[in-house]
Amino acid sequence: MMSENTKSMRAVIIGAGQAGAQGAISLRQAGFAGDIVMFGDEPVPPYQRPPLSKAYLQGELAAERLYLRPAEFYGAQNISLRLGERVTGIDRAAQMVETAKGREPYDKLLIATGAPPRRLNAPGAALAGVHYLRSLSDSDALHPLLNADGAIVIVGAGYIGLEVAASARKAGRKVVLLEMMDRVLARVAVKELSDFYAKLHADAGVDLRLGAALEGFEGEGRVTAARLASGEVIECAAALVGIGAAPDVALAQAAGLEIDNGIIVDEYARSSDPNIFAAGDCTNFLSPRYGRRMRLESVPNAIEQAKVAAANMAGKNTVYDALPWFWSDQYDVKLQTAGLGEGAGDVVMRGAPEEKKFSLWHLKDGHVLAVDAVNDPASFLVGRKLITAGAHVDPARLADATTDLKSL
Ligand SMILES: Cc1cc2nc3c(=O)[nH]c(=O)nc-3n(C[C@H](O)[C@H](O)[C@H](O)COP(=O)(O)OP(=O)(O)OC[C@H]3O[C@@H](n4cnc5c(N)ncnc54)[C@H](O)[C@@H]3O)c2cc1C
Repeated sequence: MMSENTKSMRAVIIGAGQAGAQGAISLRQAGFAGDIVMFGDEPVPPYQRPPLSKAYLQGELAAERLYLRPAEFYGAQNISLRLGERVTGIDRAAQMVETAKGREPYDKLLIATGAPPRRLNAPGAALAGVHYLRSLSDSDALHPLLNADGAIVIVGAGYIGLEVAASARKAGRKVVLLEMMDRVLARVAVKELSDFYAKLHADAGVDLRLGAALEGFEGEGRVTAARLASGEVIECAAALVGIGAAPDVALAQAAGLEIDNGIIVDEYARSSDPNIFAAGDCTNFLSPRYGRRMRLESVPNAIEQAKVAAANMAGKNTVYDALPWFWSDQYDVKLQTAGLGEGAGDVVMRGAPEEKKFSLWHLKDGHVLAVDAVNDPASFLVGRKLITAGAHVDPARLADATTDLKSL
């Protein structure tokens, strides 16, 4: 029945990334029978970004292995993939999107434009050799630098900065990591986790400078040094700037959709226009679980929210309320984190950071709000269940590594 209803409909997707591709796939899975047109301004089929700072950057993975689906998949699913074509405008009154090649009508529109890196606003920021990392081509441009001579300066000790630092050290490169705050991952992790990662990188030979503010880059045409606010000058042959990402809301804003640190969507992934949905890094969504709006930058969020958007574009009424989770790989350490620790009164540690296998449990009145599991998939899995169940745990038993996790 769904197929009959949607046969004459047209779905257009802006952005052929993780959320856009999932949206197209899930539209078909939800029985959407009409045309699906997906615009992506990059020249390659939708791909996964996480390896761009990890295995792919290290040269351990071929580009085709990044593709979410083989290029032929889209045609076979009757999804028209318009690569290298940027959408330049949305005409809501006429229900059209605009590209340099013309206008395309839509009945339902999905905006999945992601969150490109914040740009550094400092002297020398435009010099050659100053890199950002978001796309496959960014990673390709960075890769040869890992094996070149001289130091690489990384600005920002967030996940991208730390992962590139790990990849560069694995390649034997001298790495100077600058972080303005007094700890790494300051915006996203508790101090115990920050301290663990600071030591991990220091032990691997990274020259980590905390409380170090970059004033600008120096060089004639090409970067040769980074100058700190303290006056110190650090010679370098290349730099990577990893100072966060900002949601790409330009099209949505120009079209008059509601915006506030992302495209405002409800728990159905619907924007302030009932025919326009949005998913992934570009959204600021209402989370029933947390009773507030939030913006997440993670693969699981892009996938699950896009599934919900697609189902609702196909006429269903599905709510997005997935538990947030995330992972990061650095050296031989896999971090898996679930839930959000905000409002937690206690952080209980289980296991031993010196053995690189432990977990941090964020508790509020004995309830688990979040877990950070380092090389400890069992804690991640059990933690997810306990968070979802709203279970009450005894902190002393939890901290005792001899307690069987399943008994919790
Ligand atoms: C180096 C790196 C490592 C990461 N590691 C992890 C990790 O370990 N774990 C994790 O959970 N997450 C990780 N992430 C984050 C994760 O990749 C993102 O959260 C996810 O890709 C978001 O999906 P998205 O579809 O919202 O955006 P994207 O995947 O960025 O896709 C958006 C696409 O839309 C295109 N676009 C934008 N505007 C237009 C337009 N007007 N017309 C046409 N196309 C347009 C963009 O060029 C882009 O291709 C990482 C990200 C990066 C960059």
